[in-house]
Amino acid sequence: MAALSGIQIYKMLPQTNCKDCDFPTCLAFAMKLAAKQVELSLCPHVSEESEAKLSEASAPPVRPFALKSNGYEAKAGNEIVLFRHEKTFYSRPGLFLRVYDSQSAEEIKAKITPADEYMVDYVGIELEMGGFVVQANGGDFAKAVSTVRGISHRPLILVGGVDELKAGLATLNGDEKVMLAHATAENWEAMATLAKEHDAALAIEADSVDEMVALSEKVQGAGVKDLVLSPTQRGFNGTLTANTTARRMAIKKNFRALGFPIINFPGDVGSASREATLAAQAIGKYSGFIVLDNFSPEVAYALLVLRENIYTDPQKPIQVTPGIYEVNDPGPDAPVLVTTNFSITYFSVANEVESSGSPSWLLVTDAEGMSVLTAWAAGKFDAEIIAKQVKQFNVADKVDSMKIVLPGHTAVLSGELEEELPDWKVMVGPREAVDLPAFLKTAV
Ligand code: SF4
Repeated sequence: MAALSGIQIYKMLPQTNCKDCDFPTCLAFAMKLAAKQVELSLCPHVSEESEAKLSEASAPPVRPFALKSNGYEAKAGNEIVLFRHEKTFYSRPGLFLRVYDSQSAEEIKAKITPADEYMVDYVGIELEMGGFVVQANGGDFAKAVSTVRGISHRPLILVGGVDELKAGLATLNGDEKVMLAHATAENWEAMATLAKEHDAALAIEADSVDEMVALSEKVQGAGVKDLVLSPTQRGFNGTLTANTTARRMAIKKNFRALGFPIINFPGDVGSASREATLAAQAIGKYSGFIVLDNFSPEVAYALLVLRENIYTDPQKPIQVTPGIYEVNDPGPDAPVLVTTNFSITYFSVANEVESSGSPSWLLVTDAEGMSVLTAWAAGKFDAEIIAKQVKQFNVADKVDSMKIVLPGHTAVLSGELEEELPDWKVMVGPREAVDLPAFLKTAV
């Protein structure tokens, strides 16, 4: 069904303006529903007939679901825009490391363990791998699945023939949701049956858009809901074209047959460097699950940071909670350094102070997630606000030194801050966080 306009949706709503959905009018709610920014379930008064029509029209153009196991989730789908600046992307693509059943248990363990243990804190966000892929390659598939599950609790993608997948699934706890791959024009009925039996997501593989659409319709007709599109194209051009075509059709035309997350296999492209480059392309262009054959912390970090940069909401800066933070176990004689709650600002300052070894208090003010200069220009970081937060967080109770250090770019605030905080010695720090260690050693 083509997307409905706000007016078309409005005509199917009760039009009583009762406000139970927390919108002032049914029309306001209809407009939000048309933009796919709210759920139809917020209106408790919609008729059954309208609900049936609207549920389909208001469903996200890319079906959301998550692979799940033991508390881990790899979410995909739920995207509503083609370009991140139009609104935001929602479901970060998971990086999945692949092993083969032809590998020994020791080889599998050596490959899986460092990837499973990998976790890095990036501006307060934990970066980690999404899960693992076990691919049949002439070995003992069930044993390989069970070896991986013995090492990691992360979500799994199982790639093999129907019999191999059955054997692999038999080793798993039935509570988890895995992905099975691949349903093709030849085996789709048996694969669909298996996916339904295990409530698994099913990757469908096809060479062309037409074949993908035909397969998608057949598999959906067989009752499988959580599909994943797996284009056979593995190179740079082919992957880009296939991913972009499917996503454009889903979002611009609301074409349900292609409205599913996509899986790509950069691991099939050859060298580790080409694999990393193709994975970066897949992160930028619509992949939901990215299968790699190589793991190294430096490549994983680069890919996951790229992913964060693309998948954070451009309208919502990443923020840390305002408050008074301790760095290097400060006592009452330590200075108080002031900064804002924009994550990157906070972590730049905190990292430099921490590496300096100088005990310090860090007063993180609520600047709505803006950096120091932006917040100052927007009137969110001034002497009055800083003084208010000094009081709000009882900073004076923690320190005797009464030294408060402004960021160098806002030296202009020092006079006003002295007036606001007459008991404090107001100092001006360096303009750049990188100069904080020298400043703390010499000037404070
Ligand atoms: S709850 Fe339904 S009927 Fe009431 S205002 Fe919202 S959309 Fe209209």
